[in-house]
Amino acid sequence: MANNRTGLICSMCGVRENSATPVVKVLEGLNLCLDCISFIDNARDSQIKKKPSKGKVKNTGVTIPKPKEIKEFLDKYVIGQDEAKKYLSVAVYNHYKRINQPDDDEVDIEKSNIILVGPTGTGKTLLAKTIARLLDVPFTIVDATVLTEAGYVGEDIESLLTRLLQTCDYDVEKAERGIVFIDEIDKIARKSDNPSITRDVSGEGVQQGLLKLLEGSVVLVPPNGGRKHPEQKMIAVNTKNILFICGGAFDGIERKIASRLNTHVVGYGHDESGRKKKRENLMKYVLPMDLKSFGLIPEIIGRLPILTSLDPLDREALRRILTEPKNSIIGQYRKLFELDGVKLEFTEEALDLIVDKAIEYKLGARGLRSIVETIMVDSMFEIPSMPSETFTVDVNYVNEQLERAHFEKTAIKD
Ligand code: ADP
Repeated sequence: MANNRTGLICSMCGVRENSATPVVKVLEGLNLCLDCISFIDNARDSQIKKKPSKGKVKNTGVTIPKPKEIKEFLDKYVIGQDEAKKYLSVAVYNHYKRINQPDDDEVDIEKSNIILVGPTGTGKTLLAKTIARLLDVPFTIVDATVLTEAGYVGEDIESLLTRLLQTCDYDVEKAERGIVFIDEIDKIARKSDNPSITRDVSGEGVQQGLLKLLEGSVVLVPPNGGRKHPEQKMIAVNTKNILFICGGAFDGIERKIASRLNTHVVGYGHDESGRKKKRENLMKYVLPMDLKSFGLIPEIIGRLPILTSLDPLDREALRRILTEPKNSIIGQYRKLFELDGVKLEFTEEALDLIVDKAIEYKLGARGLRSIVETIMVDSMFEIPSMPSETFTVDVNYVNEQLERAHFEKTAIKD
């Protein structure tokens, strides 16, 4: 307190806390006045700046995969979604270039945070996870729904950096070059503009908090996540070089896009093209203004300059997802059987039927796995104890197994 003889004394310069110079307790037995804190900050910054020699690329130990290489890698695991893959590949490549940029470079490349919009189960998280396999920068996936504004039950916004710190063993410098995937960003949309009424702990407050992180600033992160509390030692993390990728289903945003497109087509003759657009994937026409009418605040949208959408998965995509990705569902079962010395085969018709069921019950790509699991459980139980070299799954077996498991009754249609 001002002029109080019992006020804290700065352990570095010895000044006693007063109204002009507050002193804060940094650690047990270590108090610092604001002047000394900023002195340390400046010294640290200039140390970091000194490290690379002039004009040379910083040695961060990171090799830069080219955008085409990144996309080719994504192609091995994720079916379709070419547009999103391209945007992601370029953004990740540029992210690497930024973090390798010399500090004394006159052109400061700004980071391009990304927002992926697309129906649930179309591969947003899978894309993010696959990128993580490729990268050698810290990477984490966090769910926006657990975040709440300070003062509410839930986790402080800064806690989403806790996971990033944990992935690199609390190496702050490494974490400061990492990538964070924020899932379900649409769930923190302002409720007044939001068609869903799932949760309401002031989405706008959370967005304001998130803004600080997205735009790049030094934030204090609770080392174990959750809520900050006063006695806790905090870790200062600068988010300037952290790349944020956000994903969300934005259920109902098609309505906003449709109404925007309709206002545009009025007056251009009524109107085959407008109606056609409605029938195909409207999401691919998404613009920042649609995110705004959905309930994201303009400041957040401005900090997520790369906006791209994912396509809904059609029959052909679902069929490919069953067998083509490097660790496809069918591939995984083949491996499991192979380990028991059994060759597992699926007829083409059986695979088609599995896709039909996923479509009929509106289960999407996630449903493929649960359908195959239902079909395979009996054989997984029996085969290891039976002397058999090949096991073939055909249409009859699929039907039989789905019937046995009362799949028709247990699968929930939308
Ligand atoms: P979301 O878009 O909701 O984040 P996910 O990425 O979590 O969807 O997808 C759920 C699951 O569906 C994935 O784990 C994967 O098995 C499958 N899947 C979804 N989309 C694709 C895709 N484009 N290519 C391959 N598998 C996919």
